Amino acid sequence: MTEMTLIPRADVALPDVRMNRHWIGGAWLDSAEHSERVSPSHGVVVSRSAKGTEDEARAAVAAARAAFDDGRWSRLPAKARAAVLLQVADLIEANVERFALIETLESGKPISQARGEVAGAADLWRYAAALARTVEGDSFNGLGPEMLATVLKEPIGVVSIITPWNFPFWILSQKLPFALAAGCTCVVKPSEMTPSTTAMLAELLDQAGLPAGVVNIVLGYGQPVGAVLAADARVDMVTFTGSTAVGKTISRIAADNLKKVALELGGKNPQVIFPDADLDSAADAVVFGVFFNVGQCCNSGSRIIVHEDIAEAFTAKVVELSQHVTFGDPLDPETQVGAIVTPEHGAKIDGYVQAAKAAGARVVLGGGPLDVPGLGAQFYRPTVVTDVTPDMAIARDEVFGPVLTVLTFRTAEEAIALCNDAEYGLSAGVWSENVHTCLTFAREVQAGTVWTNTWMDGFPEVTFGGVKQSGQGREIGRYGLEEFMEIKSVVMRIGRTRANWVKTR
Ligand code: NAD
Repeated sequence: MTEMTLIPRADVALPDVRMNRHWIGGAWLDSAEHSERVSPSHGVVVSRSAKGTEDEARAAVAAARAAFDDGRWSRLPAKARAAVLLQVADLIEANVERFALIETLESGKPISQARGEVAGAADLWRYAAALARTVEGDSFNGLGPEMLATVLKEPIGVVSIITPWNFPFWILSQKLPFALAAGCTCVVKPSEMTPSTTAMLAELLDQAGLPAGVVNIVLGYGQPVGAVLAADARVDMVTFTGSTAVGKTISRIAADNLKKVALELGGKNPQVIFPDADLDSAADAVVFGVFFNVGQCCNSGSRIIVHEDIAEAFTAKVVELSQHVTFGDPLDPETQVGAIVTPEHGAKIDGYVQAAKAAGARVVLGGGPLDVPGLGAQFYRPTVVTDVTPDMAIARDEVFGPVLTVLTFRTAEEAIALCNDAEYGLSAGVWSENVHTCLTFAREVQAGTVWTNTWMDGFPEVTFGGVKQSGQGREIGRYGLEEFMEIKSVVMRIGRTRANWVKTR
């Protein structure tokens, strides 16, 4: 077996360059300037997009504000809103191939994965449609004969949605249908690197009969577009997925007018492997967890913590399996791992590996860029690093590449302490056949999601989000809908029996 399994360039015709414009108030609008996205895998221009200005971002906010305030969406019966969301889901399913192709070329992810993400996104829209009809509040009938109170849930208002490049359509679909189900209106800014599927969604929203102005899309960079969406006082809430650094900036800007902020940020997600685990399944999940989306994944299982009795044998198993994972042309349906998003990001990944090596860690697989025959060198080798100490940057920072870090432990307490010795708290996993070991881990680890004897399984029903510096707020599931709702208490008097406050003599 050679060090890895490579898939060379496939014989697939590339599509014409796509032109993307803003969608504001139900109209397509262009900018004076444009940006281009060059495919990380194929080195060709994939899309040319309007480069939004402050004024264009403000126009989108104004359109969303007007659409919210006149009730064209928020005052529709939930049944009518759900019907539109269901229609969007059908249209997404009918367009999986078109969306998956452009998502693959802009992001570098494998086409089979992109197809799964687009089709899976349709299910998120369907689930949000179902949730729209379940909104309920509380009633208080025990406050005395003269009083009745209810707690109502209302849409929070205008929501800014800012998304990253690693799962462009999936992450958009974790937010937008839930905001719409709640009755909100939205302004969306996709990453400047992967704008196309968000712009393409506007066509589907229009076809599905969504009223103009309910969703507005502004293309462009964090500065100025994202900053306007975070700062504008006409916005009631910002929901952001991206890096912790930008999340903090958004939080600071939004604090000026105290708008609500929901953040889905980075992770340094541990998997703990006990000696009694099903080690074959654990090794497979570790390989999947670290190489999926070439490690450019908030949920990347980038550090494993293995019991020292099995560390050597388990690492050997992981290395062996890693050599069978297919790296290469994202357009080949056999490919499991594609390209790195930008050359700068590739250099950053390599920087972590080289620094760990210099500090005494051992690179037992890969380590370094990879040239795929017929394509460029914007790929990175499947990499496994051992002899890592918990203080090394590679063990603490979000490397965001196909790089696995191996640490070891002796006792369960030590394993939990290693897991929790992190800035992040997005997800964590445990592998053991002992239910007590798994449940204790689930209770004690600091993470928004805990997987026991599995990794990265997700469902629209099961809410997702992080603790510590991995974020605040929750997405999908019932809590995902509630994020987009405001709570109002209504206290009512029955009859005219209450004594007056003012005593007239
Ligand atoms: P990023 O923070 O660089 O950019 C995310 C978005 O924010 C982009 O649309 C960008 O244009 C915009 N932006 C940049 N500067 C801004 C500013 N000053 N004001 C407003 N918006 C601004 O993140 P990225 O590199 O696109 O994505 C990778 C990061 O996303 C990783 O850290 C990853 O862990 C995180 N992520 C988290 C989750 C999660 O659910 N927790 C999911 C996917 C990705």
